[in-house]
Amino acid sequence: MPELPEVETVVRGLDRAMTGKIIERVELRRENLRFPFPDRFSANLEGQTVANLSRRAKYILARLSSGNVLVVHLGMSGRFLIDAGGAANFHHELAHKPAHDHVVIDLEDGTRITYNDPRRFGYMLLVADAELDSHPRFKSLGVEPLGNHLNETYLNAAFRGRATNLKAVLMDQRIIAGLGNIYVCEALHLSGLSPIRKAGSIATKRGGPGKRIAPLVASIRDVLTRAIEAGGSSLRDFGHTDGSLGYFQHNFNVYDREDGSCVKPACQGTIRRIVQNGRSTFYCAACQK
Ligand SMILES: [Zn+2]
Repeated sequence: MPELPEVETVVRGLDRAMTGKIIERVELRRENLRFPFPDRFSANLEGQTVANLSRRAKYILARLSSGNVLVVHLGMSGRFLIDAGGAANFHHELAHKPAHDHVVIDLEDGTRITYNDPRRFGYMLLVADAELDSHPRFKSLGVEPLGNHLNETYLNAAFRGRATNLKAVLMDQRIIAGLGNIYVCEALHLSGLSPIRKAGSIATKRGGPGKRIAPLVASIRDVLTRAIEAGGSSLRDFGHTDGSLGYFQHNFNVYDREDGSCVKPACQGTIRRIVQNGRSTFYCAACQK
């Protein structure tokens, strides 16, 4: 499943291919993905200039000259393939099955952008920019993990008085938007905090934030930033944007490393896997307190 860094990588790839370009033709090869496409979806995209690409949580946002925003969620297996015509190196990787190409977008400059999604949990919406913040998919989203609103004061207030464990609070999309299972595990390990500790236990009841909050904020930014950098360096010369890339997985310190040795130099611990709210949590009980 694409997590925030993968989505950010896709946004950057699409930005290079689409921003400032006119959408000439949109072909829908089925009536629905996870949900039906909006009425007159193709007609409302065709002829529009793409003003910019951005990301909110795990949503891809393409702002159009009409004042609408094309919203794309990649679901479990969605990805984009960019074919810039003869000028680019386009590699059909083995996993790419054209039967799962569901949306084909042709830009006026000859670039073809194909949305491929074998499991079809992804979806596309068209929302007026002015209504985006109040849209049901967006109105309850918390702060961006890489934005200025995620800071010690905010997190201290979010944790204050909470008996819920840290893992669950960090996974709560109403508090931090787009931070998924892998990066919560990694950030907790980096900051030396146990996923089973009560969130309220590292917050102060009043006054300034608890001293363990700042390292957590820094760790969240750090694990995401490093993953995005890894994604960016793997975007090959404009040719190929892949929402299901697996290249970050070599860098995980705890995620999917059950029974592995803790990577912290001073720690002799072993990575454990437990299940919290139906999701696997990986952590080192020796150095995460
Ligand atoms: Zn450890």
